[in-house]
Amino acid sequence: MNNDLRPTSIEVSNSEGVLAIDWNDGHHSEYTLFGLRKNCPCVMCRGGHGNMNTFDRSYFFVEPPRHIEIEDIRQVGNHAIKIFWNDGHNNGMYQWQTLRDMCPCEACCPQQE
Ligand SMILES: [Zn+2]
Ligand SMILES: [Zn+2]
Repeated sequence: MNNDLRPTSIEVSNSEGVLAIDWNDGHHSEYTLFGLRKNCPCVMCRGGHGNMNTFDRSYFFVEPPRHIEIEDIRQVGNHAIKIFWNDGHNNGMYQWQTLRDMCPCEACCPQQE
């Protein structure tokens, strides 16, 4: 847990289907947009308040990922972003800590192939 954790840059490539985050501790995360959408942290997508901010990393390894695009990203306070998807969904507040916890890179989840 790192309360000072925050992104120094967030870049979206809809053509590549990737959202990349550089963190202020030097870590770099790349998420497939499909995986982020499937892990939307809103109550509706999680199926209840008890599951808020839970996630399933396996969505980041679906090949090929279903195409979905980000239309807009807005920062919420200083702890989260809201992602506006091109399917009309925008309820999810992705907290920095949750995004970092779901980072699918090899260092963060060495059990993945
Ligand atoms: Zn949602
Ligand atoms: Zn990582």
